[in-house]
Amino acid sequence: MARPDRRVNLAVARTIPPFLLCVCVYASYIVTKPLCIDYLIRPLPKYSRGSRVGAGIAILVIFYILIVVVIITYLRLLYNITRNPGFLPRSSPPTKEEQETEPSERPQRRKRKHRRTRTAEKPDKTDIDIERGADGNADGGAIPLDITGLESFYTKDVFVCQEDGRPLYCSTCCRYKPDRAHHCREVDRCVLKMDHFCPWVGGVVSETSFKFFIQFVFYTLIFCVFSLIICATFTAEIIQDTGGANVHLAIGIGLSSLFGLFSFGMTISSLQLAMWNLSTIENLNRRSAVWTLAIRVPDRMLARLNPESRWAPTFRTITYPLPPVPLSPEAARDYQPPEKQHVFAILQTLPGENPFDLGSPFKNLQQVLGYSIIDWFLPLKQSPCADRTTGDSFYELGPVVSRLKKEAGLNPPPESQPTTQNDTERKHKRRRSSHRQSHE
Ligand SMILES: [Zn+2]
Repeated sequence: MARPDRRVNLAVARTIPPFLLCVCVYASYIVTKPLCIDYLIRPLPKYSRGSRVGAGIAILVIFYILIVVVIITYLRLLYNITRNPGFLPRSSPPTKEEQETEPSERPQRRKRKHRRTRTAEKPDKTDIDIERGADGNADGGAIPLDITGLESFYTKDVFVCQEDGRPLYCSTCCRYKPDRAHHCREVDRCVLKMDHFCPWVGGVVSETSFKFFIQFVFYTLIFCVFSLIICATFTAEIIQDTGGANVHLAIGIGLSSLFGLFSFGMTISSLQLAMWNLSTIENLNRRSAVWTLAIRVPDRMLARLNPESRWAPTFRTITYPLPPVPLSPEAARDYQPPEKQHVFAILQTLPGENPFDLGSPFKNLQQVLGYSIIDWFLPLKQSPCADRTTGDSFYELGPVVSRLKKEAGLNPPPESQPTTQNDTERKHKRRRSSHRQSHE
């Protein structure tokens, strides 16, 4: 059963867009009739003032330009939220056979140097000893875990994982979650880089719409400030002339103050989040959050992973593709691991570190708003962070990941460091150019 606050959110989401439309229509009426026509262009007899056609027309032009911009950004936001919301498809729940596989039927894990730790917050239905890596097995009834979409994770260089090295899992959608995806209970789906459920637009603000949300609240702020200035200025003038206020203009002051304050708060907080490269959800525990990351171990280091080696690393590892389940001891002996293996180190950030922070507020803003001034102000192109054409990671990663790699010795040898830096720059440029191409 839906929780009350979820139902309230959904009800508000359906009510607010028509309410906003009514506010826009009424605001247009206030500025057009009582202010510009009845007071400035053709003043009513009760106002002892001459006609000010120029001022009236200028105000009308600016007001309608601003309101059109607000409406366009709102429609762009609404379009992305309804047509391209960034929802992830749900997977089918585990089969009865899979559910009935008791842990006791599975082979005992072998003792290894690095003990597996399970994460308590993401219970999985696919319980498999991942640390066994490719030593696992497939028998006739094996259920290959890769059908749940793990390939899209282990073909990347870095992804967010649980403490055991598997990606985060959504037990409602029955699927692994890409980095920064979050399950939204209002729509009951996982959403890519979900920011928040926004009743003002009746949907989920996510990586595909956050940019347009920022533009919408920014232009709404400008529109409200302009409306407040004209309503307040001419209300003061009318009170001075006649001793009483025009009730429509007074309501206009109230509405523009209210919406202005709200949009000011939303603009500032959204821009701040974009500058930190955080979503609203990630921001909730940003000071204490610890990210667990699976970082690809370069091929040259694979030989050192042998626990007997003097170079054996201190970090835990996981090897993909994971062996299929269920396993039997006999089948485990015959299991032939796939030729191409993907080994990942399981590393953790310090509390409060953000692996997606690119190191400068401007670079972080670019990930959301785009690389040119036109991108920043016009609601045309998608955010670069929603670009999926480069495959090293789900989102561009910052200095925190570079530091983790360096500390774990996963960086290339020192003599090739300069090349690596060039590579990073080249990769950055490639992302930018591929983003441009994808929108041309
Ligand atoms: Zn989900």
